[in-house]
Amino acid sequence: MTKHELNNGPNIQKEKEMVTKMIGLYCLKKHHQHVPCEECEELKSYALKRLSLCQFGEEKTACSNCSVHCYKPDYRKKMKAVMRYSGPWMVLYHPIYSVKHLLNK
Ligand SMILES: [Zn+2]
Repeated sequence: MTKHELNNGPNIQKEKEMVTKMIGLYCLKKHHQHVPCEECEELKSYALKRLSLCQFGEEKTACSNCSVHCYKPDYRKKMKAVMRYSGPWMVLYHPIYSVKHLLNK
């Protein structure tokens, strides 16, 4: 078994914050839950775990551009829906962050 270092640098922390916000927003608008429902909560903890274990750590690019698809197909599909839905909102809420992400493309 290879040793996995858990990522906890500033970039990863920021990504975690974004993912948490995006899933929260998605659930609020799509599922009308003020506290993420079970399904979204599960997706969130999965996403946070993937970030903690991302092999690129602080050097990581946007997950959508990554060549390593570390998500299970199920979760990837759900995450895509979340990103598609919450992405435009994030541009409004966090313009700087979104611009940085776009430049990564
Ligand atoms: Zn939900």
